[in-house]
Amino acid sequence: MISNEISVIIPVYNEVENIEHLFNRLLPVVESISDNYEIIFVNDGSTDNSLDKIISCAQKNPKVFYINLSRNFGHQIALSAGLNHSNAQCAVILDSDLQDPPELIPELYSKFKEGNDVVYAKRQKRKGESFIKIITAKLYYRLLRQLVSFDIPLDAGDFRLLSRRVVLEINKMPERNKFLRGQIAWLGFKQTHVLYERESRKGGKSSYSYAKMFRLAFDGITGFSDKPLLLVSRLGFLISFFSFLIILYAIFSHFILKQTITGWTSLIISAAFIGGIQLLSIGVIGQYISRINTNVKNRPLYVVQSSNIKNQEKKDVSVDGSDS
Ligand code: UDP
Ligand code: MG
Repeated sequence: MISNEISVIIPVYNEVENIEHLFNRLLPVVESISDNYEIIFVNDGSTDNSLDKIISCAQKNPKVFYINLSRNFGHQIALSAGLNHSNAQCAVILDSDLQDPPELIPELYSKFKEGNDVVYAKRQKRKGESFIKIITAKLYYRLLRQLVSFDIPLDAGDFRLLSRRVVLEINKMPERNKFLRGQIAWLGFKQTHVLYERESRKGGKSSYSYAKMFRLAFDGITGFSDKPLLLVSRLGFLISFFSFLIILYAIFSHFILKQTITGWTSLIISAAFIGGIQLLSIGVIGQYISRINTNVKNRPLYVVQSSNIKNQEKKDVSVDGSDS
């Protein structure tokens, strides 16, 4: 049975400086929407005192829940854990560093009430983020849109509201390499957006290193497009075709013209070129294979160390999205 009107899911990784601020700003906002709310903090293996802060919020307010994961599983998996446990008509995903203003939630909620299943918050401006991060994100989402066959919204992160049925569909998706904004776009339903200005982080620093960003970027591409594979196989054909022409020319000039093409330069260029293209292609294929490998192992997506949510065991296995 669904008991709440709205749930707010907050992934937390080393955010000790921000949790109280966030909680104090969030509480009046959700209370203005409904008395039947739940706030779910997912502690993603923080190494600071974030968990203590979360537990003290939960002790003050029985509508605050926490899921303490056994280690750092990553932002997307933390979000998935929160969505698995959400028990409300709609769920809002919110970062804990106050980059996503909680005050926007009523606007998201009113669009939900107008009949939208997904209301994502679209960034009009991004404050306090490096030029490189902004420009790579812009380029990436434009590339991704070329590669996938459905509409992925530009300039939107994970800050969004999802209806119950979208949450259930997301919970059913078995892939381990999560790219939620892609999965949500893939689902369809009625989607809309509201505009906002993304603030800079309140305290602490971003834990999204470039390595993590790259991984997420590759998950986005490999999870939703086979075009890179098609591209390398086409490239293979094209290069083989030109190589064949060069071979014909080499044989012709040796036997008919009685001239052997001289030169170390041409040899080394072609060897390096072919070598480079081959490594690149194997790398692309490797990206897909490594994801197949992760998925066939069929391990649990995350492990919960402690939580104040009752029915924990039942919820853990309900990754199939069944309403427990
Ligand atoms: N986060 C998480 N696990 C991680 C990294 C980040 O749960 O491994 C949380 C983090 O506490 C924050 C949100 O995910 O609430 C976004 O992370 P961050 O602010 O570092 O990313 P950015 O906003 O710089 O993209
Ligand atoms: Mg942030």
